[in-house]
Amino acid sequence: MQDQSKALHSSFKFDPSTNAVAVPIYQTSSYAFNSSEHAANLFSLSEFGNIYTRLMNPTTDVLEKRMADIEGGTGALACASGMSAIFLAVTTVASSGDHIISSASLYGGTETLFRYTLKKFGIEVTFLEDFSSANIQSAVKENTKLVYAESIGNPQGDVIDFEEIAESAHQNGIAFMVDNTFAPVFFKPFQHGVDIVVYSCTKWIGGHGTSIGGLIIDSGNFNWGQGRYDDFTTPDESYHGLVYWEALGDVPGMGNVAYIIKARVEGMRNIGMCPSPFNSFQVIQGLETLPLRLEKHAENALALAHYLESHEKVSWVNFTGLENHPSHERAKKYFASGQFGSVFGFGIKGGVEQAKKFIDSVEMAYHLANVGDSRTLVIHPASTTHQQLSEENLLKIGIKPDFVRVSVGIESIEDIIADFDQALAKI
Ligand SMILES: *Cc1c(COP(=O)(O)O)cnc(C)c1O
Repeated sequence: MQDQSKALHSSFKFDPSTNAVAVPIYQTSSYAFNSSEHAANLFSLSEFGNIYTRLMNPTTDVLEKRMADIEGGTGALACASGMSAIFLAVTTVASSGDHIISSASLYGGTETLFRYTLKKFGIEVTFLEDFSSANIQSAVKENTKLVYAESIGNPQGDVIDFEEIAESAHQNGIAFMVDNTFAPVFFKPFQHGVDIVVYSCTKWIGGHGTSIGGLIIDSGNFNWGQGRYDDFTTPDESYHGLVYWEALGDVPGMGNVAYIIKARVEGMRNIGMCPSPFNSFQVIQGLETLPLRLEKHAENALALAHYLESHEKVSWVNFTGLENHPSHERAKKYFASGQFGSVFGFGIKGGVEQAKKFIDSVEMAYHLANVGDSRTLVIHPASTTHQQLSEENLLKIGIKPDFVRVSVGIESIEDIIADFDQALAKI
């Protein structure tokens, strides 16, 4: 099946007990066991099934299986938010005393998680502005557990050379994790050497701005038994001595699920950032039209970028989809035809005051801190989402004072352009 069909059909046909076609919201905390033996089997992982909603839920399960299918992975774990998914994904492989190599071009929340919160947990992060394989090679240490990047950098729109980075991570026996929030469906990270993918479902996947959610997906391709990952090859005390790589590295009918099950039975079970079944239902509603919506987002983004490029009050437009963007060719190589995402930055002549005036003057577009909504959104990152960064760090990641960020929605392009046009006329 193609992605748009999978988004509607994968992993759920109808509810076996009621024949309901919409995925039911199983709003339950717990599940009855059939017998003592059944209960014991579930807890020992010799049989997979429902125990408690912190660990799994049938509504959430549809979301996980459907996204794993679209992504081409062996399994997925849904989380309460994108940030919790990233935290859980990272701490499934790294703990106190470990090291991570990350691109410096990161979502604001991830940047502060990596720079400040992980440090408190004893995890050190090296940020690379130039995320090249040569720089990665020289940053690798004995305790390095992860190479981390985003598929489309925010806000610069930079795209890394995934295959080259994957190769240098794998040469060192290190897993490569990518946040694919900005490029779902039109970029398939596992086809280019990425081992683990994380998402904020709050953005395009949910797509309607109703719910916060996150996901972790395992490619099933990484060999955790190569030596760097003691946690996978020695018994887990918290789970009656389970050795993840031995027990789950090659499960018949499932493949390599060592990482994703470790994330569930160690991370999710002990930390508990599970999504509510209602939010999973909302994300599934979004997922049903995701491939379709992405095409419209992409088309509108390109048209708006072209319009702004030729506007006399706009000093620059920084969009991966434009030929003058430094990552344009690379994006064309890795992404599905004509898709470059729908978030970009542009500068308004005159600087910060004019940028703020523009934002205060749009009428249809919303001024809010989100991306990937069906509606067009604008914000001034320097004074809002990236406010915690120093001026020097802001400039380093390409946020100039006149920078306006737009997340282009799926309204009629005529209306989006008309709105921007009247707002630009007021400054
Ligand atoms: C929004 C976002 C996150 C965080 O997700 P939440 O669902 O808001 O917790 C992480 N990464 C990227 C790229 C994002 O856009």
